[in-house]
Parts: sequence; C-alpha cells; structure tokens
Amino acid sequence: IITLGQPEHSVVTTCAYCGVGCSFRAEMKGDQLVRMVPHKGGDANHGHSCVKGRFAFGYATHKDRIKAPMIRDSIDQPWREVSWEAAMAFAADRLTSIQKEYGRESIGGITSSRCTNEETYLVQKLIRTAFGNNNTDTCARVCHSPTGYGLKQTLGESAGTQTFDSVMKSDCVLVIGANPTDAHPVFGSLMRRRLREGASLIVADPRQIDLLKTPHLGASLHLPLRPGTNVAMINALAHVVITEGLEDTDFIAQRCDASAYLRWRDFIKQSCHAPEVVEGITGVPAADIREAARTFAKVPNAAIYYGLGVTEHSQGSTMVMGIANLALVTGNIGREGVGVNPLRGQNNVQGSCDMGSFPHELPGYQHVSDPIARGRFEAVWGVTLDDEPGLRIPNMFDAAIAGQFRALYVQGEDIAQSDPNTQHVEEALRSLDCLIVQDIFLNETAKFAHVLLPGSTFLEKNGTFTNAERRINRVRKVMPPVAGKEDWQVTMALSNALGYAMHYDHPSQIMDEIAQLAPSFAGVSYDKLELQGSLQWPCNDEFPDGSPIMHETHFPTPHGKGQFAITEFVPTTERATRRFPLLLTTGRILSQYNVGAQTRRTDNQRWHQEDVLELHPHDAEERGVKEGDWLGISSRAGRTVLRALISERMQPGVVYTTFHHPGSGANVITTNNSDWATNCPEYKVTAVQVEKVSQP
Ligand code: SF4
Repeated sequence: IITLGQPEHSVVTTCAYCGVGCSFRAEMKGDQLVRMVPHKGGDANHGHSCVKGRFAFGYATHKDRIKAPMIRDSIDQPWREVSWEAAMAFAADRLTSIQKEYGRESIGGITSSRCTNEETYLVQKLIRTAFGNNNTDTCARVCHSPTGYGLKQTLGESAGTQTFDSVMKSDCVLVIGANPTDAHPVFGSLMRRRLREGASLIVADPRQIDLLKTPHLGASLHLPLRPGTNVAMINALAHVVITEGLEDTDFIAQRCDASAYLRWRDFIKQSCHAPEVVEGITGVPAADIREAARTFAKVPNAAIYYGLGVTEHSQGSTMVMGIANLALVTGNIGREGVGVNPLRGQNNVQGSCDMGSFPHELPGYQHVSDPIARGRFEAVWGVTLDDEPGLRIPNMFDAAIAGQFRALYVQGEDIAQSDPNTQHVEEALRSLDCLIVQDIFLNETAKFAHVLLPGSTFLEKNGTFTNAERRINRVRKVMPPVAGKEDWQVTMALSNALGYAMHYDHPSQIMDEIAQLAPSFAGVSYDKLELQGSLQWPCNDEFPDGSPIMHETHFPTPHGKGQFAITEFVPTTERATRRFPLLLTTGRILSQYNVGAQTRRTDNQRWHQEDVLELHPHDAEERGVKEGDWLGISSRAGRTVLRALISERMQPGVVYTTFHHPGSGANVITTNNSDWATNCPEYKVTAVQVEKVSQP
C-alpha cells in the first residue's frame, strides 16, 4: 500500500474505472487522499478490489489537470484563460448564433459513461431543452449500444439480468468475447472461485484468455472462433439444443411468445446452422460446438457473460439477440445462477444509457415518439419536445463534414482518440464552428476545441454510478473540485447562459427528478441509498427494494413473454484477403484503462507495458519476425507501428493488440464498419497486413 501519511477520516465512494463498481473507503488527511481501501460493506465487491481502483487515483491531483476555463476564436490560436462566466457567455453566444444561422438541428452533445447519472441526465436535458433537439448520444455508442438494442428486443429491458454474486450458483459459465480477469478483475476472481468449486467453463474467443488457465474441477472448453463469426457460432449452439431435444419445453411454453418461438425454431433447425457446416465458417471443430451446447443445456443453471467481443461487430446487435435466444431456449433466465450478463467496460455505461443519452430515448428507455412519456417530461421540463430521434455520433461526424452540423458539446469523452477511423473523426471535429470540451485533461479532442471547461474527477463530486448489475452506488465527494465546479454545475451554468433555467443545489435533487420521470427509478432516492447502501433497478412500487434478479415471473415486453429473434448470419466485409491476410482484434490489460488518460498518470504507470502486436509463431515465422521486432500494421483505413509479441495464445491468421497508449493508435487502422442496428463500430475485426520494419 502506498501511503502519503496517516489518515484522519474516510469517505465511502465508488471506483471510477470498470463496470464492476467496487466500493472504497477513501482515507483522507485533511483534503489529501491518503489511500483507497476496498470497502467490506460494498455490495458489488465485498471488500475486494484490483490494482486500478486501489492504486490508480493519483491522476486526480496530477499537474496536467485543467484548472481554469479557456477559450479561443479558432483552433490555430493559443488558449486564453477566462472566468467561468466569460467562458459560458462565449459558448452560449456561439451556440445561439450557429442555431440562428444553420437551424435548431445544427448543434448537439455527447454524454460520458465516466460521469455520474445526475450529470448525464443534465447533459441530455440541456440538449433536449436549451438546444431544443434530440442530438444527444453517449460514448456507449461505441461499446454497448448493441446490448441496449438486442436485450430490449428479446427480453424487454436494456440491461443484464443478474447480480455478480449470482455466478456462485452457476453450474456452467459461457464467456463470449470477454476477458473478465483483466477487464473486470473483481468479478473475474469471483468467477474463478466458482470454477474452482466445479462449474464448467466454455470460452468463445479468438484468443486464449487467462480464465482458461484456472485449474478447476468442471469441464473447460475453448471455442477459438475466427473474428466476425460470433453469430454463426451462437446459431450453431442453438441448433444443437433444438435438434438434440435439449430445449426447456416448460419454460418456453410458460414464459415465451409461442409464435416467435416457432418461427425461430424453424429458422434455427436449418442445416446451414449445423456445427459441421459452421465449422467451416468459425474454424471451431464441430465436435467442440456440440460438446459446448450439450454442456450448457444439460446443467441446472447456466449463465452467459459477454463483453465487447460480442458488441463491437457489424452484427453486434444480432449476436446479443442470439445470446438471449440461447438463454431462453434453455430456460436460463429469471433465477440465480443463470442469465444474460453484459460486462460493462466503463463505470457508468449502464447509467449513461439509463439516463436518456441516446437520441431516440428519454431517460428510462422511453422512446421520444411516445406521446405519453413525452408529455410527462414536457410537464416537468416546461418545453415542447422533439418527437423525432436525433443524430447518433457517427451521423454527427458525417453531418459535420457535410457542413450541416456545426457545434458539439462533449462531456468527459476523448472522441478523437477512442472512436474508430481517427482521420475521419479529426476531419469532422476540424469542420465544427464551435467545439466545447469538458474534461479533466487537455485530451486529443480538445486540440480541436474552442471552449475548454475543466471537468471534475469522481473524488470531487457527489452523485451515483450504475454498475453492470444495474446497481446504483453512491459517489461521494472527498475533495473540492480543482476548478471550483462539479460537472453537473458546469452543465447547469451552460444551460442558464443559454436561457433555459436550471436550479439544483445538490445532485440528490436531480435524482428526485429522475425518479419522477423514469418508471424504473421511481423508488430511488439518496435517503434510500444511504439506508440500503445500494439499489438495483427496477426500483419502484412493484420492487421497492430493487431487483437483484430480473424477469423472475414475466418480461417487460408487450405480452410479458420472452421474444425469440431471427439471427441470420451475415459475414462482415472485413475478411482476410491477399492484400490484408490477417484479422486484427483488440482488448485490454489489467493495470491500464481504456486509452490510458487516467492510469498512465498514476502509480499504475510502473506496470505499464507498451501496446504490442500479439501474433502466432506460425505467422511470425512466415514473415521472418522475432520477438520485439517493429511491425508495420496496415488496413484499408490507415497504418500504425507496434512491437511484436509472439504468442501461442493466438490462433494462426489472427493478431491482437491493446489500445492503452495514444502513440500506438489502434484506432488509426480500425475501419468505419459498424453494427447494422446501432452504429457501434466494428473494432473487433480489421483485416490487416503485417510486415517487419526497421524502426517506428
Ligand atoms: Fe475498480 Fe473495476 Fe477494479 Fe473494482 S474491478 S477496483 S470497479 S477497476
């Protein structure tokens, strides 16, 4: 433990990194944070933590923090430090004149999955009221938007079904496109515990993940499928269940829509979904697919956990629906030990979606075209709301390049670095007349900004985060914000400068407004959170103490039934070719977080490894590559350079890298391909050429 002195008092708050949402005691000496100690009373972590939550908090006091608002007339000019009032007046003036000249739809904003529920709620409210349109989107667009779509279509609610602790009742765990021990370490450890006790493990992933090395009593099976073939694989698993009579007929009869089931059953019985055919698509032996399906379907409780290896594909939404189909047909929904569980990468991905960040949904997943829902919001917000969905992030970029979209407000998201096809994003940002960036550091996006508003870290604010199990956890302020304002206060000030009055004294009042307007949050309040420690939504009259397990008796669909969806496999256009013969996929390491803006400014820096390109010995040998050689990696979108790491974890023909360092620029080579339903980028499969180069 790194200590800066003896603590005098402590404040319980929530980790700002991954979607596990661990509780910590922030131990303080005066205003100085001495250490973060995992909180035994934390409902998500029960006193456990990982190296990110425990040690990576130094970024909050790093010298690079932006400490005052700044403005400039154009992006080739130097920044001028100004007062909050001057910055707000400058931003409001620009936004107003742009709307006057180019129309109401010419501006928009992006919320952050790193900010609190209350802050996210205010940003979308600002856009829908002061801006007067639905041009709001969230960084969840590039990670879990297919989860929102796919689970809504099938299970009726855009959220995972279980608590983390539920895994301790699972007899089989199917992990698809996720690496929990690196990306969700505290939950990964819990899963390991259950595997050691005897649960079976099935991993569907192009790369061998550490979980497969866990010594355990139950079966362990790796399905090393080719990137881009998830849907073929999930259909094949379902095909085995149906053709071998392994379905849960009682569950299907009682809990599922009969006609949707019959349609789906006819679809899935087709011979094109047989494992022997799918082997040719996925590269996974048919016998292994059959064994996996039998193992999953025959145990009393089987659970599915998935990550961005499912969602960040051109068929991300289809795959999420395929996962729900498999859970429904085997009756693995509605009790402990089972379920469909998206592992959320960022601390508040679930919350940012819940809070109405998407351009088609008001808070609580209420569609903007629903006149009753809209009426409720209009009565409280005092405006007439737009009934047409607004622009998604990729549409904003395209419209900016076309000259129709002229101003953007971005809170807590480095879109220039984290969105795909960097060249395209930069062209869009350069086209804007006004870019307002609210962040804690001068990030890559801020290089294109006209207004820079200092953001606050999780240590400097009050609010709530919602983790991957729908658990609303309190975030408590332990030190004053470096620039004097918490993020929700900044948004409120911008709204007031634009002429739409917002008055809140504390985020608890914002939560009260959310509870008034979003039915799933009707029973949530700060008082109840103090009393219970945390609450899992839905929390309302029907579930006053929250809902650890969803869909126990019915689904929130029109007839209360689970909906099977047809999941046709459509191959991605990113295929290995003579010019680009390898398929690149991406992931994370334990000690770093996303693009590293925070973790690289903390003690975790000592564990920092540069991003490298992992490749199979066969592919290395074919190219005369040795460990540590520099490699040029080109795709049809761009080119980058990384060192080689030769690894048996890879399968021949597939290469892998992480994206924690800005210099490596993994997103320079990812393409504009995206999910058909949600536009979530296809980060997880890029056809590339790899060649040895003499130096970077
Ligand atoms: Fe934070 Fe996630 Fe680590 Fe928990 S597991 S300490 S939430 S990064």
